[in-house]
Order: sequence, then structure tokens, then C-alpha cells
Amino acid sequence: MPEGPSIHFLKNKLQRFKGKTVSEASGYGEMEKSEMTNIKLLDIETYGKNLLFVFKDFFVGVHLGLFGSMLVNKQKKVNASFALHFADGEINFYVAKTKLYSGKPTDHFNFKTDILKPEFDVEFVLNELQTNHSEEQIGDVLMNQKLFAGVGNIIRIESLYHAKIHPESIVKVIPEKKLIFLLSMLVDYSEEFLSLLKTDGVKEAAMIYGKKICPKDKSELLIEEMGKVKRKTYVCLKCQKLYK
Ligand SMILES: [Zn+2]
Repeated sequence: MPEGPSIHFLKNKLQRFKGKTVSEASGYGEMEKSEMTNIKLLDIETYGKNLLFVFKDFFVGVHLGLFGSMLVNKQKKVNASFALHFADGEINFYVAKTKLYSGKPTDHFNFKTDILKPEFDVEFVLNELQTNHSEEQIGDVLMNQKLFAGVGNIIRIESLYHAKIHPESIVKVIPEKKLIFLLSMLVDYSEEFLSLLKTDGVKEAAMIYGKKICPKDKSELLIEEMGKVKRKTYVCLKCQKLYK
């Protein structure tokens, strides 16, 4: 599944369509598209793993899910689930989930929780963590898109490794300084992830995601589905401390 930086990367590719007029919206998805004819696409934004096409009074959220993909000025043999057509180009989405929202993105999404936005607010997220998620495992809560918009499995695994925290650690037991460091790691690593996408080198550059041994001490990694999220997790038991 694409993570926040992958969606940001797609957004950057689409900037030339900003300010252009949509001649037609199509696709087999059930979303109502009649309003999207002959109107200007004002902006292309992201929130976490959602790509947002912003019009004057509404916007469309596109989520690629596990199998979705996007093509610009190219088509697959199968029908697009959603497509925007312009006088000089088109954006096609395949197997993507779309949703029509009224108003502006900030009416629906809290940008303070998006790890790739300048609005990401460490103090806000830390307070939410310690107040409403204190009994949870940190490895689980990091996948909560309402609090950590854009975090996917690679970002989760790599950031916990850099912060030296075992994913099964309970939030309230982790020292506050450690949590703050983890939050800064999420932001730093997401930026690195975004720049690595240009060369397609994310997995190669990962420290422990997809690997078998820890690069620091050469010990064998623990690899198993962990926590409530049941996602494949990589841990170095020597480097990452369990707070329980
Ligand atoms: Zn290690």
C-alpha cells in the first residue's frame, strides 16, 4: 500500500493540472460526477494517504488502497474507476476509492496530524497520544490514520527502529522525551522517503524493513505479525527497548 510520501509524490506529478478546466469526469465508480464538468480544478492537495482534487465548493478524495494506481495521459486496457479529463490531458485512476466532500479539505481533515504537512503539530499529537491512546501499543497507534495521517508500515518500522522503541511498548510507559524523538523521526524519515522515491530506492535504503539482520549489531531481527494491526513487523531486540 502506498504511504503518505508516495501520495505526495503523485501530487507533485499532477501540479500542471492545477488551475486547468475539467472538461469531463468519468469512471465506473458510483460517486456523483455531474458537477465536475467545465469547472476549474483549483488545487491538488493531500491528506495522509488521500489525494484531494479541490474545486470551488467541494473536493474529491482519492484513496488508492492496496491495489490502486494512477496514470497520467495513459490508459490501461481495463476501465478507470475515476478519471479527470482536460483539454490537453487526463488523469486516470484504477481500482481507487473516491469520495465527494462538500466544503474545503480543512473542514474534514485535521492537518495537524499529517506527518508530511508543515502544519504537523508535535504538541497536539503528543497530547492526543498521552490522553486518548495511553494504554495502546505504540506499534498499533502509529497506524491510526486519524492521529498519524500518512504513516504506513515502512515508516512505522523504520521510525521505531531509529527511535530505539519496541513496537509492543505501551504509550504511557514510554518516556515523553522518547515519544517526542519518535515524532520527529516520523517527519524526518517521511521526508527522506519522499526524496528516495525519485530513484525508487526506498526499500533498498531501509535499515530493517524487509531485512533479516540489524545493520548495527548484526543480530537476527524478530519478524512477525504484531499487535492489533497484525502487520508484518521487524524488530531488533538489542536496539529497541520494550517499555511495558
Ligand atoms: Zn540492533
